[in-house]
Amino acid sequence: QWIYMNGDFVTREQATVSVFDHGYLYGDGIFEGIRAYDGCVFKLKEHLVRLYESAKSIMLHIPLSIEEMENAVVETLKRNHLQSAYIRLVVSRGAGDLGLDPNLCHEANVIIIAERLKLFPAELYEKGLKVVTVATRRNPADTLNPKIKSLNYLNSILARLEAEQAGASEALILNHEGYVCEGSGDNVFIVKNGTVITPPTYLGALEGITRNTIIEICHHLGIPCEEKPFTRHDVYVADEVFLTGTAAEVIPVIEVDRRVIGQGVPGGMTKRLTEEFRKLTTVTGTF
Ligand code: PLP
Repeated sequence: QWIYMNGDFVTREQATVSVFDHGYLYGDGIFEGIRAYDGCVFKLKEHLVRLYESAKSIMLHIPLSIEEMENAVVETLKRNHLQSAYIRLVVSRGAGDLGLDPNLCHEANVIIIAERLKLFPAELYEKGLKVVTVATRRNPADTLNPKIKSLNYLNSILARLEAEQAGASEALILNHEGYVCEGSGDNVFIVKNGTVITPPTYLGALEGITRNTIIEICHHLGIPCEEKPFTRHDVYVADEVFLTGTAAEVIPVIEVDRRVIGQGVPGGMTKRLTEEFRKLTTVTGTF
């Protein structure tokens, strides 16, 4: 396995960063999770735009242009002879002295890891997930806006721990006002009377690339789709609920806070959107 590190390709063993990297010391950095399907990187431009926007927001200088980063991602796949893969792109503030001041760091560390995909068990997609709402909150008024894909994922981890303790597979996170935002690492959709609804990201959610793709699919197929705030009650009485994310793609939810959703099995709209999404990811290409 070859890891991209600041312009070079190194082995897994050589791919180490300093304990003085502020990414390690303070979670000071950003990342992206991207997928390649059969020789095509899915929505690479969109992922890189989000990466560079996250960087701008936290005043982190990425020492590569967006085009250079694009090439680095593709080169990493080529080096590893991977046509389908999960790609993790990490940019940390870099090594500096102790102390929060980012000016103590000389240069960002840019790392790209491409791995063979570990797919979630098929059973999860057939049966659907049980999720619970948790005490952890998203707050869009924070300077660290939930739209920033930062290396600070402790909130999401705490949410996941809460969900696990409640015997659920995933957490549903609300914002400070009680509106539903997203999962710990995925966006949320509900379906009610044929309309597909997802929370607007200004409530405090990451603008997921998979989320945006589902919205596009709906528009393309003439399926009513809205970005609209909703509450836990709306989720409980929805006909269908599903989550979206780069790794999970589209995954059905069949129980929320012990309320059975719809008939307790993945719904028709969820299945249709899953199929349509898969069509977009089965275009064969070559790097
Ligand atoms: N929300 C959070 C908090 C995430 O970490 C992710 C994963 O990247 C998502 C949503 C889904 O976004 P995407 O579809 O771009 O993977």
